[in-house]
Amino acid sequence: MSDRTEISELGEFELIHQLTKDVKTTQPSTVQGIGDDAAVIDRGDHYELVSTDLLLEGVHFDMSYTPLKHLGYKAISVNLSDIFAMNGTPTHVTVSLAISSRFPYEAVNELYDGIKAACERFGVDLVGGDTTSSITGMMISVTAIGRVAKEKLALRSGAKENDLICVSGDLGGAYIGLQILEREKMVWKDNPEIQPDLEGFDYVIERFLKPEARADVIEELGKLGITPTSMIDISDGLGSELLHIARQSQCGVRVYEEKIPLDASTITQCQEFKMEPSVCALSGGEDYELLFTIPQSDFEAASKSEFFSIIGHITDAASGSAIVYPQGEEIQIKAQGWKSI
Ligand code: ADP
Ligand code: MG
Repeated sequence: MSDRTEISELGEFELIHQLTKDVKTTQPSTVQGIGDDAAVIDRGDHYELVSTDLLLEGVHFDMSYTPLKHLGYKAISVNLSDIFAMNGTPTHVTVSLAISSRFPYEAVNELYDGIKAACERFGVDLVGGDTTSSITGMMISVTAIGRVAKEKLALRSGAKENDLICVSGDLGGAYIGLQILEREKMVWKDNPEIQPDLEGFDYVIERFLKPEARADVIEELGKLGITPTSMIDISDGLGSELLHIARQSQCGVRVYEEKIPLDASTITQCQEFKMEPSVCALSGGEDYELLFTIPQSDFEAASKSEFFSIIGHITDAASGSAIVYPQGEEIQIKAQGWKSI
């Protein structure tokens, strides 16, 4: 690299790659280090899973429309999502906070009400953390610990040619929810007399403010006797996550645009913003649904489930990764912030 490289030129994935490419693991127990939703550590009779995430005010959340209780809930939920993305069960979390003096005790307590509600909902124990002051905005960092039976582990790298590509729930809602919140913020900035008009937008706004990690999907897969060959959670948009699976599994993907699951209210609100719903699903992000692949032999069991949809299949690497439109046209997937490495 030259003497000065702008981080924005690299993009997040290339930056992590450059910083960590010469990191070697020496512990025999390290099964999976950097590069998946969670690290995987061999604990003898099972694997331990560890994942950490950072939420920064002004980057990941905007205090003007984020209730603190929701924020606390989301901070836990999005971390647990990374444990579920390994086909695992979360057990413990630690929470670290940097708080500016702008916030009274009552506000931080509200944040903690959300954190505790999420811990209770997902049955995880809050076992530690750290607290400090911040001279800029608020910062919340959560580390989640979980476990998975060895034979149930799902990495990003296990997809095989002809596997079916599945996605849980519906996509694009969180992105359009954020657009609505941003629009109302602008209206309010111009005229503080006007109260935000959020009626009829409950579903998509909740998708953004209070995402629910898909514990139920992992339970369903267990009941169906399906172990995904690969899995990732959708934090950056379906397109970006498909490329992670493709690159790490050394394969290609074909996803059928008309099969991408969308909620009716997401479609309605996308029309209002003159946006294509599938584009919101592919590039939007923050849905925290699970994207996974299963062998064709699981088709029958999978097609009965109401928890997820089959949206495409895995191809060989040479075929690349594309979305297939109803007329048969194929568009190569290009994720935002992605630079191939
Ligand atoms: P996710 O979106 O699932 O949280 P990320 O894209 O944030 O995953 O991270 C991808 C991988 O890179 C993960 O294995 C993560 O632990 C690792 N990673 C991210 N940032 C760093 C860092 N600064 N140092 C070491 N590893 C990192
Ligand atoms: Mg993830």
